[in-house]
Formats: sequence, structure tokens, C-alpha cells
Amino acid sequence: MFDLRFPDDSQTPRTIPGAPVDDRPELRLILAAPRGFCAGVRRAIDAVRDALLKHGAPVYVRRAIVHNLEVVRTLEAEGAVFVEELDEVPLGSVVLFSAHGVSPAIAEDAERRNLKAYDAVCPLVAKVHREVERHQRAGRQLILIGHKGHPEIEGTLGHVTSVGAHVVKSVEEVESLPLHRDEPAAYAVQTTYSVEDAHAIVEALRARFSDLVGPASSDICYATTNRQAAVRDLAMYSDAIIVAGEHFSSNACRLAEVASLHCPAVQLVAGPEEIDWSELPQSGSIGITAAASTPESSVEAIVSAFGARYRTSLEEAGAEPEATVFKRLAIA
Ligand code: SF4
Repeated sequence: MFDLRFPDDSQTPRTIPGAPVDDRPELRLILAAPRGFCAGVRRAIDAVRDALLKHGAPVYVRRAIVHNLEVVRTLEAEGAVFVEELDEVPLGSVVLFSAHGVSPAIAEDAERRNLKAYDAVCPLVAKVHREVERHQRAGRQLILIGHKGHPEIEGTLGHVTSVGAHVVKSVEEVESLPLHRDEPAAYAVQTTYSVEDAHAIVEALRARFSDLVGPASSDICYATTNRQAAVRDLAMYSDAIIVAGEHFSSNACRLAEVASLHCPAVQLVAGPEEIDWSELPQSGSIGITAAASTPESSVEAIVSAFGARYRTSLEEAGAEPEATVFKRLAIA
């Protein structure tokens, strides 16, 4: 319905006879801030583009440079070729390692194959690698809080070769660790883990071990921490939350989990085509956020899809902009 107001009757909307009636439900869309790309993701994407500029196409990338298919397809169109393992890369080619980091064995393998390798590991993941190497030198058993099989955890495990390393993802798994209480132990945390879950697991480790050390400040990175805090706040006053991100992105999954603790209707979607419209309320507020590997174009597509089905208003939750920027990877 057109909302026409007249000077003598400002409170009463009138309809022009014959005008189309817009009877779509009304929704308030609120974008989380911060959301989307972090400094580590930007640096990794820049590294692929810089390598293409320097060496020309194709440049090979071992695994998804960041966990987002739109990013991968965009870079493929620019000349990047994504592979699972180095044996798919022709000898002497240029190869990049993803932002999640790799085991030193992968870098050595690249050297054996005479590949020109660049490591686009996020500096905050590399910091965790240095931490676990320090604990290894001190002879401590290592406990990694994270998800087995995730590339970041696989890469970090590769830095631990001379002491035992154990991956835990819950308080229950801490209880069943095959280690003696007085064994010197150390822990590290996957950078994209849930802040609240990690806190509970660290408390359980402290209760379980008498000689435990951990990071001076949290291993969970600034981007994960900020995005989880923003979606938590937004979820508290939204009727539904949409998380833009891939189902295989740890960062995206944790955002959806955090939101679910405070909001009954949460959907994790790679794009608007995955939204289950039947599960959304017909009025009220929808919060929208995006994982650290999700481009803003995905958020824009989701907002447009809402605009096609609802009468929407759009606003952004207030927050200080993030100032973290990492130095570009040197591509020589
Ligand atoms: S999410 Fe954190 S650790 Fe991962 S790339 Fe971004 S800044 Fe680095």
C-alpha cells in the first residue's frame, strides 16, 4: 500500500484508486558490524592476485585459499588453479598455500618438487605454529582445542613431531585424554573456535592437569572474537539471524552456533538461494552477518533477495571499524 500523507490528515494513509497495492510483509534488516572479510583473508586473496601479476597464469593454490566458493571461483576466473595435493602441480610451477597454514612437510615437499612456493598463512595462525613449537621444545604434551580434520588443525599438528599431540573439542574429551595429571602439558586453540566453548574447555584442562601452560593472550583471533560478539548482541534482539557463509567454514559454523544460543531462528546460507523463507517470521527484525571468508557481495545478494519479498528497511549495528591490516605477502 502506498503510504501517502496529506497536510490535513497526516496520520491517515490513503490509497490512490487503481494504484498497485504493496501488501508485502514489512521487515527490518540489521547488518552486523563487523562482518565479512578479515585481514588474514584479504592478505591471502591479495597474495594469489599478486602471484598472478608477477608470474602470470596459471598459479596453483593448494586447497581453498579461504573457505568460500565464490572467492575460489572468482580467482579461478583470474587464472588460479586449485588443487588438493602437490602431486597435481606440474614441476617447476608456482604454488600458494592457503590462509589456514600447512605442515612444514608440505613446504619441504614443494621444494623437492622444485615448485616456487608462497605461504599465504594468516600471521595469526603462524603465531600459533610458533607457540606449539615452543611447547614442543619444552617437552610438553600438546593439547589442541579445535576440530580434527580442519586444515588449520592439520597444519598445526604438522609442526609437532617429537611430543604427543591431542585434539579435543569438548569438555568430555578432556576427561578421556590418555595423559597423567602431572604430565607437563600445554594447550593451543584453533583461531576460529567458539570463544565460549574454548573457555569451558580451558577450565576443564586447568582442573585436569597440574602443570599446564597456554597462550599469553587468546589464540582465537580478533576477527573471530569480534564477529562472534557482534552476532551474539544482534541475536539477542532479532527475530531471526542469517549467517552468510559456507557450511564447511569453521568461522561461519561458529557464528551460527553462537547466534543459536540467543535466537530461535538461525540459518547458515552460502547465498540467497539457500534461504528457507518458510522458516522466517513475517514481521520484526532479521539480523544478517557474514563469516570472515565471505565477500560482501554475498551479503548484498541476501539483502536484495529480502527486498524482492518484503518491504524492508536496512540499517547497520554500530561498532568501531576494525583497524587490523596485515603486511602484504612478498611475491618475488
Ligand atoms: S579468521 Fe582470524 S586467523 Fe583466520 S584468516 Fe582471519 S584473522 Fe586470520
